[in-house]
Amino acid sequence: LHPVYADMPVTIFEHMSGLARELGALNLGQGFPDGPPPAPLLEALGRSSAKGSHQYPPMAGLPELRQAVADFYRRTQGLEQARDGVIVTSGATEAVAAAILAVAAPGDEVLLFAPAYDAYAPLVRRAGGVPKFIALKPPAWSFDRAAIEAAISPRTRAVILNDPLNPTGTVASPEDLAMLAAVCIEHDLFAICDEVWENVRFDGRPHASLLAQPGMAQRAIKIGSAGKIFGATGWKVGWIVADPQVAAVVGRAHQFLTFTTPPMLQSAVAEALDDARIAADCVAQWASSRSVLLAALAEAGFAVLPNVATWFACIDLEASGIALNDRTFSERAVREAGVASIPLSALWEGADMPRHIVRLCHCKSESMLREAVSNLVRWR
Ligand code: GLN
Repeated sequence: LHPVYADMPVTIFEHMSGLARELGALNLGQGFPDGPPPAPLLEALGRSSAKGSHQYPPMAGLPELRQAVADFYRRTQGLEQARDGVIVTSGATEAVAAAILAVAAPGDEVLLFAPAYDAYAPLVRRAGGVPKFIALKPPAWSFDRAAIEAAISPRTRAVILNDPLNPTGTVASPEDLAMLAAVCIEHDLFAICDEVWENVRFDGRPHASLLAQPGMAQRAIKIGSAGKIFGATGWKVGWIVADPQVAAVVGRAHQFLTFTTPPMLQSAVAEALDDARIAADCVAQWASSRSVLLAALAEAGFAVLPNVATWFACIDLEASGIALNDRTFSERAVREAGVASIPLSALWEGADMPRHIVRLCHCKSESMLREAVSNLVRWR
């Protein structure tokens, strides 16, 4: 058995959700909404399920979904992307895997920024690549050009950027994006851009894709997710967007991972993407759940780090007067307070690992969020 996977525990998300199920705890760990996805999406699924095909769709995705994704980005991000540049995948994690397989050869180095989503490093390693971690700088989780330049070697092939960033809920500044593009161009690097949170932003905070930066069209592989846009994480419908020649190569990797993605789901997502109100209603709902959690945490005396995107808010344990490290907090809180959370150190490798931050998911009912905070208050 290969040591990359043989020597590895299940993901922190699976671990915490497993404990929450077993113990009947309120699950603010793994990111997923507790309610159903939008009714128009389910209605579209009803139609596609009853009338559409249930056989293999085209490997690169249904033409209507590829077109809907291209149109969505034209409308929301001003990206002029051809339909041929869109490949549909079974979730964004598959898209990340396909992009890494398409780009990294054995021995290639791939730059990752900590905190980093847990899938990136194992996928790079299993592709034979070598992940190099660079710590982002709190509290804005900004990028340090000198540290990036210092990590680059002749073997460096790519960077993986997650923006907006899970777990912190921050968005890269325009200056950082321009700097990252300049670094990629200067050192001839690919950028795998996990932008699954692109639509989940609050307080009018803008987001721009690294793919849209001048000079990045041929080197950026942008990844998106219907699960995040519509709050339907179990659907596992994602995609990559890139220059058509680059996308075609990612498609060659995708064809031997999952090959295709259920056509009735693709068709429903295509319909829902075409109606801008559906995604907007989702964000409005999450803006209100975010406010509920932030207000309840503040009232209870928890110090919360600034967040403007994603389904997550991070508590600074130290600043909240809680003398537990993040792992201990999460392991004890799920058992003793009945609240599941994600310790930030589980999403960190390399130097400067913080051990005083835990992530809570806010896309839940108001009553569940209030109960979770009052449970934590009683327990702490
Ligand atoms: N993206 C989800 C999160 O950050 C986890 C997804 C998963 O568990 N595969 O909570």
